[in-house]
Amino acid sequence: MKDQLNLLISLQELDIHILKKQSIINEIPLKISGVETRLNKILTNLDKIKQGLESLEKKKRDKERTLDDINEKINKLKTRITEIKTNKEYQSHLKEIESIEKERYAVEDEILLIMEGIEASLKELKSREETIRSEKSKVDEFKKKLEAEVLEAEKELLALNEARSGIIGSIDEELYNLYMSLIKSGKGLAVVEAKEAICLGCNMNFPPQLFVELKKNEEIIQCPQCHRIFYYKSE
Ligand SMILES: [Zn+2]
Repeated sequence: MKDQLNLLISLQELDIHILKKQSIINEIPLKISGVETRLNKILTNLDKIKQGLESLEKKKRDKERTLDDINEKINKLKTRITEIKTNKEYQSHLKEIESIEKERYAVEDEILLIMEGIEASLKELKSREETIRSEKSKVDEFKKKLEAEVLEAEKELLALNEARSGIIGSIDEELYNLYMSLIKSGKGLAVVEAKEAICLGCNMNFPPQLFVELKKNEEIIQCPQCHRIFYYKSE
């Protein structure tokens, strides 16, 4: 039994390593999607700025078209001056031109404001694009690092699983089945040390008589509470 117990202890050590490696591998896609989500958020913000810029440019084009129409109107009115006969007609004609010119100044002011907005947006866009470039290269670097970690962990996992196959070949089938069912029920921990009559799996104190038996490391003894297999490590 002593050999079997030693094999179980080795198996448990291996399985702890294997579980750790597996959890490293399992967590990596989550880590990658985390940094990608952050990057996508920045990209969405960039799209919003681009859309805002496009709408400003469209507004500017519209206002420029209005300005063209106004200028055309003013030119037409000015050419008609020669056709005017009376002074009264002439005065009202001038008033008309004046009022349209006022309209033109207003539109010109609006265009200036829009252009200021466009300039600010372009500046913002440029700075955001720089941020994105640096974020992207950070993300790429991070992904490369994680992918290298996966490769390394997979390599180690392969070696660990080979060692595991070597060990389980020498463990009694019934005992191995018990071990595996305890691994499932005991969150990956089936074989635990019992120190000073305390189970290090569930922290329960157990009867001293059991501890005396345990110290011999001669038979398979399970914790009365969590059923994990005990072993005793002499100082
Ligand atoms: Zn226990």
